[in-house]
Order: sequence, then structure tokens, then C-alpha cells
Amino acid sequence: MKSTDSVSRRKFLGFGLTAFVAAPVAASLLAARTAAAQDAIPKVDETDPTAQALGFKADATKVDTAAFPKRAGEEGAKQFCRSCALYQGKEGDSSGPCAMFPGKAVANGGWCNAWAPKA
Ligand code: SF4
Repeated sequence: MKSTDSVSRRKFLGFGLTAFVAAPVAASLLAARTAAAQDAIPKVDETDPTAQALGFKADATKVDTAAFPKRAGEEGAKQFCRSCALYQGKEGDSSGPCAMFPGKAVANGGWCNAWAPKA
């Protein structure tokens, strides 16, 4: 009976150790895969005609607010792709897809004149 307890304890400890090591490894692999998937989506080029027409900048602080006054002032300064209704990235991602630019990704800190607040 004692040897059975010993075997069960070893199995239990072995399983626990495996789970202890495997969980963080799986989490980091998933994070790496998600980041790689994000990187696989081409970014919107600021020189793209649509991007230029909308005043798109990957860095919202670089927007020409004289040409695009929507982003001027205190309220305008709060507008970023990450707070836009058309942004499809997850919270915390550095970039994500945008419905305005199908098949392309935008930086979460970007902006364009199509910005609309999330509901
Ligand atoms: S539509 Fe919204 S998410 Fe897309 S580029 Fe413009 S501000 Fe960013």
C-alpha cells in the first residue's frame, strides 16, 4: 500500500511539474504567434492616396491639424486609432486591422480623418 501511495504521489508531482512548466511556455508561444500574425498584416502606407486624403498618420501627434482640424484642440488630442470605432485590434496590441483600409493594419497610436468614437 505504501508503494502505491508513493507512485501516486510521484505521478501527481510529475503532472504538476509538467503543468507548471508547460503553461507559461504555451502562453508565450501563443503570444509570439499572435504578434507574428499582427506583423503579417501589411501596415497602411502614409503615402497611399486614401491615407493621404484622410490625413492618416501612424503617429497621431504628427497630424497636420491645420489641414485636419478635427484632431486639433483638447478633444482632438484624445483621438487615436485605438479609440476609433473602425479599429479592429485588441486592447494592448500595438497595431490592428482597420475597416477603412481593408487588409491593412494601423498603429494603435495612429489617426485619420475618418476617426469616430467607439460606442
Ligand atoms: S478609421 Fe479609425 S482606426 Fe482607421 S486609420 Fe482612421 S482613425 Fe485609425
